[in-house]
Amino acid sequence: MRKWKKLGIGMAMIAVCIAGNGIYYGIENYKGQQFETARTKNETGKQGSITQVTEQNATEVVTSERNTTEDAMAKVLEERRKNPLLLLVNKDHALPADYEVSLATLNDGHQVAEVIYDDLMDMLSAAKEAGCSVVVASAYRTEDRQEQLLKQEIRKNMWNGMNEEEAEADALLTVAPYGYSEHETGYTVDLVDVNNQMLDDTQETTTANIWLRRNCWKYGFVMRYPKGKEDITGYSYESWHFRYVGKEAAKEMTVEHVTLEEYLNALAQRK
Ligand SMILES: [Zn+2]
Repeated sequence: MRKWKKLGIGMAMIAVCIAGNGIYYGIENYKGQQFETARTKNETGKQGSITQVTEQNATEVVTSERNTTEDAMAKVLEERRKNPLLLLVNKDHALPADYEVSLATLNDGHQVAEVIYDDLMDMLSAAKEAGCSVVVASAYRTEDRQEQLLKQEIRKNMWNGMNEEEAEADALLTVAPYGYSEHETGYTVDLVDVNNQMLDDTQETTTANIWLRRNCWKYGFVMRYPKGKEDITGYSYESWHFRYVGKEAAKEMTVEHVTLEEYLNALAQRK
């Protein structure tokens, strides 16, 4: 709860900052002029009536200031909620049936949403400069590909001795059914170290993964399935799965240590 409250304060500050460049400054300026006028009149006499006018004006200005700031904040929040980069796809939220994405192709043949391409390239270049060799293990997937992956995982589990029900339940901890995978959005990449390309708990010890987890927010990415948030995301910890949400949201989510689910909840709770 405390974190959500802090996030709320952050939102209010953002709204005030945005308004600060125009609307809010206008109010301050207007208020200053009103008081200046009243003070000048006050010096010339007729104190009683002028005091009354001043208080009335001040009330109007304060009310107007509050309304305008609230309007600006509501507008910012509304825009945030509609932001396509914050599209929620998890086990409870399927990819919208009419979802379409423009794709860009990486040098290695993987595809990602065009909108994340530049920031992804910047992040991979920065990682390289820092001495890390990052490999894209997976990026955009079609529904068919997602279905294949789930079936493969179920078969692997059954091969290892599980019955079909157990095999499916276990597979669903790490592989989404088709239509429910973030990889189908084009906003997600699985990134691994060239020296350890395993998608398991050892990945977090690699230099590439340590760098990515520390710096990804600067490029608009978040590690989507963190440790300790499994009940919220519905997924096991995956240190390699990075989701693009845009630089602003990535920074806020990182500072507040919240998942996309928690972040969207916090936005929704504000009017
Ligand atoms: Zn992934």
